[in-house]
Amino acid sequence: MSEPEFEQARKELISTLEASSLFQKNPEYKKALEVVSIPERIIQFRVVWEDDKGQCQVNKGYRVQFNSALGPYKGGLRFHPTVNLSILKFLGFEQIFKNALTGLQMGGGKGGADFDPKGKSDNEIRKFCVSFMRELSKHIGADTDVPAGDIGVSPREIGWMFGTYRAARNQWEGVLTGKGGSWGGSLIRPEATGYGLVYYVEHMINYASGGKESFAGKKVAISGSGNVAQYAALKVIELGGTVVSLSDSKGALIAAEGKGFTPEDVNKIAALKVERKALTALEGHSYTYHEGARPWTLVGKVDVALPSATQNEVSEDEAKALIDAGTKFIAEGSNMGCTQEAIDVFEAHRKENSGNAIWYAPGKAANAGGVAVSGLEMAQNSQRLKWTAEEVDDKLKDIMKACFENCLDTAKEYITPKEAEFPSLVAGANVAGFKKVAAAM
Ligand code: GLU
Repeated sequence: MSEPEFEQARKELISTLEASSLFQKNPEYKKALEVVSIPERIIQFRVVWEDDKGQCQVNKGYRVQFNSALGPYKGGLRFHPTVNLSILKFLGFEQIFKNALTGLQMGGGKGGADFDPKGKSDNEIRKFCVSFMRELSKHIGADTDVPAGDIGVSPREIGWMFGTYRAARNQWEGVLTGKGGSWGGSLIRPEATGYGLVYYVEHMINYASGGKESFAGKKVAISGSGNVAQYAALKVIELGGTVVSLSDSKGALIAAEGKGFTPEDVNKIAALKVERKALTALEGHSYTYHEGARPWTLVGKVDVALPSATQNEVSEDEAKALIDAGTKFIAEGSNMGCTQEAIDVFEAHRKENSGNAIWYAPGKAANAGGVAVSGLEMAQNSQRLKWTAEEVDDKLKDIMKACFENCLDTAKEYITPKEAEFPSLVAGANVAGFKKVAAAM
């Protein structure tokens, strides 16, 4: 079977490992690479559910239990019509190394279904979740495999699935993360991916400017309008930056010259998303909606770009356009947000322009804050304790700082003695994440 997304993720990892000195220093890790590329287990199942007309419907459900060297399999569930094994294997593979980069004890996994929540009633989505978990509950557990949300799965769906698990097993355990606050969820989990992304980029900006600059005064393009994009936007605004774009699957919403999204706008967008409405509702004198477009070529000059919608959402041409527009920092809120060609453009620019280079951070490092707070939720559930928002946010900040420093230091150690000032964060992330897993295996 051809698995283009998985092959893309694997090749991206391998190319940076082979360009580094890792295999010279640790020849045994070559075998580890071969081993880690095959999931420990893949569970595939049928999900039969009843629609509002009383008709029987069927979808394909999956859980890829990829690697448990560092802890229980951990990773989200995606409900989207494009879901197939290639997509879930790519996401699960990335998740292994991302989870390693959080410094917490979590293995990697991913799951989901080709179910499309769009156009379905709340009742139909609930019925789907119940049927999906009826089977999945046989294969997961707080010390075995701990799913969470991803595209199409929010705390509401987690709630329906958690209730099904609890009833099926007659036990309360932290088997899912991203739960609601009153039934075991961690504070800051909804915010964590977006906040963590911005904390990571704040370190990039700080390091690149020798401690002189921050998000204050920076123009920031963001794609997406889901959970990651919303909280990234709110944090950028809080830190004094201007958010000039957001998007949904049908187009991009671009701020007029000199304008930026306000927290009220972002909250309005959050409410629209709950009602599953398009961003066009916000069009007016401050914003223009460009149907069928992504933000990157429409935003003009921006300092920072944060792709936060889905995989492969920045192409080679868009990467060039961002560089031409003077963008200095790119970090993925989405998983594999940039195509390999786009990454090659950023990396070539970094090599040729030390001093004024572009800084590119891959999702497995930059968006690790989400799963990191999932790990903190698991810890709180095991302890039967609940930490304050401040405690969790402080831990998230520490994790993102350590993650950035790990990527940077690993790049300096294994990859770029000559480029010490402008190390490759993508190579650093890959070597650091892989090395930890390989050593554990
Ligand atoms: N789906 C998120 C990710 O891609 C979170 C996974 C989790 O919290 O387990 O990292």
